[in-house]
Amino acid sequence: MTDFPFNTSYWFDSQIATSPSLSGAQFADVAVVGGGFAGLSSAHHLKSSKPDLSVALVEAKHIGFGASGRNAGWVLSLPPVHWLLDDFDDPRRLGDIRWTSQFCRNNIVQLGRWVANEAIDCAWTPSRHLLAARNLLEVAALRWIMQRYEAIGQHCEFFEKEKMTRLVGYPAIAGMAYEFVSVQPYRLARGLRQRCLDQDVRIYENTPIQTIRSTSRGVQLIAADGATLTAEKVILATNAYTNSLMLDAEIPATSTQHTYMLATEPLKPDMLDRISQTRTPFGDPALSFYIGRIFENRLIFNGIDRASRATPEDDRHLPSFVKLHREMLRRFPFLESVSLAGAWGGAVQQTPSDAPIVRRSKSNPNVILNIGYGGGSGVGMALLSGQLTTGLVLERGPIDNDAQRLRTLLANSRFPRMGPVRAVFGVLRKMVFG
Ligand SMILES: Cc1cc2nc3c(=O)[nH]c(=O)nc-3n(C[C@H](O)[C@H](O)[C@H](O)COP(=O)(O)OP(=O)(O)OC[C@H]3O[C@@H](n4cnc5c(N)ncnc54)[C@H](O)[C@@H]3O)c2cc1C
Repeated sequence: MTDFPFNTSYWFDSQIATSPSLSGAQFADVAVVGGGFAGLSSAHHLKSSKPDLSVALVEAKHIGFGASGRNAGWVLSLPPVHWLLDDFDDPRRLGDIRWTSQFCRNNIVQLGRWVANEAIDCAWTPSRHLLAARNLLEVAALRWIMQRYEAIGQHCEFFEKEKMTRLVGYPAIAGMAYEFVSVQPYRLARGLRQRCLDQDVRIYENTPIQTIRSTSRGVQLIAADGATLTAEKVILATNAYTNSLMLDAEIPATSTQHTYMLATEPLKPDMLDRISQTRTPFGDPALSFYIGRIFENRLIFNGIDRASRATPEDDRHLPSFVKLHREMLRRFPFLESVSLAGAWGGAVQQTPSDAPIVRRSKSNPNVILNIGYGGGSGVGMALLSGQLTTGLVLERGPIDNDAQRLRTLLANSRFPRMGPVRAVFGVLRKMVFG
């Protein structure tokens, strides 16, 4: 199949109402660049902490245009995923990772309460993510992952083969599930946009910022059409698109990665039953990367990570869609005659340690970096990032010790070099000793 129904994101509304774009020369105390989860969370937390602060958020296209409005909608309370490969025999490190996971979980619980109270129409559903093992190596990997998840406070459940036939419709010999929340991500971004507007955050959409430079009056954002916004501080939340900015602040080395998604047409109940009788979201135990969920009677299937640039051409990278579609049919051959309703991709900014970068720029401390949310636990981490950026903007006021602790952990995060070796030995030990 090569005629994929490409769109920017299947989740978007057909008509998207946007706020006016930036015009003339505007001023604010704080400007946020980027209207994804990281930017929205930053604007909201700032206004909650200091309601009289004037905060403006500028978005190149529309709120949720980037990864936040394109992702699979899995809100995980996991720390940066590479941390799971770390040395858990070190009680201090384990304590930090467990605490980070709990911090994330608390934020998700609070967000869930807000979604319920405000009746935000974003299909917020506490659910379970099932990892399905198809061979003995994957079973061993799954047992190893489960041990790690439980060590950081994730409640897990193990399933034998008999139960698996109801949970996922491809041959799996064992499985493990842990708790997460599934969501319609673009709708959540829209809800957060409205929350910001209700707090008097000024939102400018359809305003690509080209240049960010320091002037005697503050940090100036210059849009493609010449409109300007000058602010005392700027929070940069542009993720995969950061490198296209002209900026007088250093950006740490990162890479860009693309992930791809497919949505089928609505499926009949018997077909849905063959995918999963219980409609449980499923995926692989990390040896390969494919996940799926049922949403409004459609299968939403995604996977494939490849190094990329954040361009529309990469969003439509045909070989990736062909491979993804083939994989979907390999698992569910009965979907051969089913047509697709959407095919889309999106980019994330990947740091070497998988930890986002949340700190003041070293060369320009009035620019606060809130970038580097990758594909693993990016949604959960970006959604809590406002708690971290607020303390970097408001230099006076009560100190948030938790935010400070998490910022320090993120800043000191390195890829655990022995991690892959640890994983291989851990999985082999599970294979031999169970
Ligand atoms: C296909 C896909 C599936 C994924 N699935 C999951 C998942 O299920 N669970 C999970 O945890 N993570 C997932 N992720 C990762 C997750 O979506 C991201 O980590 C997270 O959304 C990043 O949020 P953000 O706000 O940092 O970035 P973004 O959402 O990309 O927001 C950045 C915003 O900045 C704007 N912008 C950029 N440049 C400028 C400029 N010059 N001027 C003005 N505005 C600008 C962009 O238009 C964009 O809206 C997935 C990612 C993709 C692409």
